[in-house]
Amino acid sequence: SLINSVEAPLLDQKTPNSIFLTTFNDFSNWARLSSLWPLLYGTSCCFIEFASLIGSRFDFDRYGLVPRSSPRQADLIITAGTVTMKMAPSLVRLYEQMPEPKYVIAMGACTITGGMFSTDSYSTVRGVDKLIPVDIYLPGCPPKPEAIIDAITKLRKKVAQETYGDKTKFQRGNRYSTLKHQ
Ligand code: SF4
Repeated sequence: SLINSVEAPLLDQKTPNSIFLTTFNDFSNWARLSSLWPLLYGTSCCFIEFASLIGSRFDFDRYGLVPRSSPRQADLIITAGTVTMKMAPSLVRLYEQMPEPKYVIAMGACTITGGMFSTDSYSTVRGVDKLIPVDIYLPGCPPKPEAIIDAITKLRKKVAQETYGDKTKFQRGNRYSTLKHQ
């Protein structure tokens, strides 16, 4: 009928907002934000602050964060420390080996802009977001453990608001070519 032919496309458009998918989203987001597993990735002094989170004083396991040594078991990478041009392909490779959906926290001035190496150094990546997509920027030199917990809290809020299929696939080629011409 005429009514059916008009309403059918409208019903299709409403399907993603159905009660079932909303509930699935909430459950999926809750599960992911409660078990963000960070890859152990540290290149210099910032990692000392990150490592202190693992001890009993800050005890970041209570957020469900369990450090992993394999990228295939991690869905979060906290880039703690300076990233050199020589290490850039390895970082991209580690990121690509992590399963989707995955997240990045850029920790410290060196990671975000190149820090003290941003002007005269030929060997430092001036911003890790030229290599991989960054979800949270955490400034400082180095950021305190409390600041890292704050960044993780912000990331958890971001994950809580995602809808299914939000995370888009990263175009490595574009970012890597940007890096080569910095
Ligand atoms: Fe070291 Fe500061 Fe750079 Fe962190 S931001 S790696 S503490 S120099």
